[in-house]
Amino acid sequence: MSDLLNASDVVSLMRGHVLAAGGKPSVIMVADPGKEDGAQSLSYAELDERAREIAVWLLRRQEPGGRVLLLYPTGLNFVAAFFGCLYAGMVAVTAPMPGGYRHNRRRVAAIAADCGASTVLTDRAHLPEVREWAEHQNLTGLVLRTTDEGGLGDADEWRTPELGRDTIALLQYTSGSTDTPKGVMVTHGNLLRNVESYGAVYGFDESTRSGAWIPLYHDMGLMGQLLPPLFFGGACVLMASTLFVKRPYLWLRLIDDYDVHWSAAPNFAYERCVQQVTDEELARLDLSRWRFAHNGSEPVNAATLRAFAERFAPAGLREETLIPCYGLAEATLFVSGGVSGAQAQRVDPDLLERHRFVPVLPDAPGREIAGCGPVHDFDVRIVDPDSGRVLSEGEVGEIWLRGESVAAGYWHNEEATRATFGAVTADGEGGFLRTGDRGVLHRGELYVTGRIKETIIMYGRNLYPHDIEQELRAQHPELGSVGAVFTVPVPTTDGAGVEEMLVVTHEIDKRPEPEVMRRIARDMKQTVSREFGVGVAEVALLRRGGVQRTTSGKIQRLAMRRLFLDAELGALYQDENPRLRAA
Ligand code: ATP
Ligand code: MG
Repeated sequence: MSDLLNASDVVSLMRGHVLAAGGKPSVIMVADPGKEDGAQSLSYAELDERAREIAVWLLRRQEPGGRVLLLYPTGLNFVAAFFGCLYAGMVAVTAPMPGGYRHNRRRVAAIAADCGASTVLTDRAHLPEVREWAEHQNLTGLVLRTTDEGGLGDADEWRTPELGRDTIALLQYTSGSTDTPKGVMVTHGNLLRNVESYGAVYGFDESTRSGAWIPLYHDMGLMGQLLPPLFFGGACVLMASTLFVKRPYLWLRLIDDYDVHWSAAPNFAYERCVQQVTDEELARLDLSRWRFAHNGSEPVNAATLRAFAERFAPAGLREETLIPCYGLAEATLFVSGGVSGAQAQRVDPDLLERHRFVPVLPDAPGREIAGCGPVHDFDVRIVDPDSGRVLSEGEVGEIWLRGESVAAGYWHNEEATRATFGAVTADGEGGFLRTGDRGVLHRGELYVTGRIKETIIMYGRNLYPHDIEQELRAQHPELGSVGAVFTVPVPTTDGAGVEEMLVVTHEIDKRPEPEVMRRIARDMKQTVSREFGVGVAEVALLRRGGVQRTTSGKIQRLAMRRLFLDAELGALYQDENPRLRAA
């Protein structure tokens, strides 16, 4: 049995690595990929010592089980504080830095209140920002402490707290794509089990090196990139996500320079690399040692995979490196992923709308869906979300999961926990997690078609907003990279009832003349009607950043719908549909 399955908790596992290879780097923070200097690292022994110091300080202030909010940008201080919480038997709560937008400030305050944290850990550079936020949000009871200035506690005073696989290690707040964020309770056992299954699939060991710019408060960053190599005694190389946003090339530079062989990102990141990495940059890259490029957390676009593979083949990137995967915080993270390369299926669009997944002949028109690989360590069922009936292969339904990686529930939210974590099939099989995602099993692979809450139901048909947005971008190059499609109720022409009609909001790259935008909007409506056979009530074109997204970059279609209904889109151009205005 592997160390991870044997370990009683994360702390004993990590201490084992300190004994075995304490001097080896665990985390490397790169200030500026491509420049020689500016990388800092923590060995396993250093990480352990810093974690013990923080744990001693925490245990002087509160009992094990207390929640500790971690407000750090990506970096070594975050990692030390995260393990400090675990070494103290406390619950680490991750969240983005509370600066910037009002919405983000309020969201972090809501997390602090929801988890009942009494302590916030941060670093010296960000203390003023955190203090200003806490005061402004009236979080007066919070104790703020920096962890990079010393004076915490004597590491030698640390004693192992009582820990077990059922001890809660962290609260992972969901990203809030469709709902207010809820704190998923992830136990030590969940972490060990999920990382073990992840590692078994991809052959992780002490030589494994991940590389991440995905924020560490996001489950894909924390559970998907940082923890797995550390649990196996390998190393994680980090860079700030702002660097990726500024210049996607720096992500690839990091992979090459630091021998990263495994790095994950959502689909849009691969898309950006294709669009923004220049020929000169490409010529300087060797990506032949990159073995696993995971693409997940958002719908995977098969065309993006092809374009990325083609663009970076001259840099030695192998096609089989590109691996779509699927996961969610409620299942700790990793659920499914291919082992080598991506499979995509072109399926009959009409049947898909009736929840049947039927591949078409190679050249026939169809909707292309990327496979997310086999489900690895869960009991999986595809279930009719209304009746609980278990569906058979080829039928699209809600993805239900059962297994040891399924988290312990939502923090202090029994109702939501019962509804999501205690699902029972019509046959009376219980203990399933409802993922809220629609998908299908086809030849042993999971194909994720979209979120149930966002599915557009029109005239008895089931459409996925993501498909419509993608098609619009493919046919209208003037559009930016993000859009949000949803429906709104509109009075019928005879005024006797209401019907659902489609609204398309989409970012546009430049700022064309009003006449030009009017033409683009008209053409977009024609595209939707031609490709999907449904009418669009209104098109709104927005400036960059106009489509609301979560801090992890996920499109918030339901929030966009609310903005639309409240007439608060602030569009550059918007149709004026009199039927909508009458409503
Ligand atoms: P909230 O639950 O608050 O709305 P969230 O679901 O976005 O937020 P996460 O747990 O971070 O929060 O994200 C998991 C979700 O991301 C999945 O349930 C699924 O909807 C989506 N997702 C992840 N991987 C894929 C994928 N490969 N294809 C399509 N969707 C994916
Ligand atoms: Mg979710």
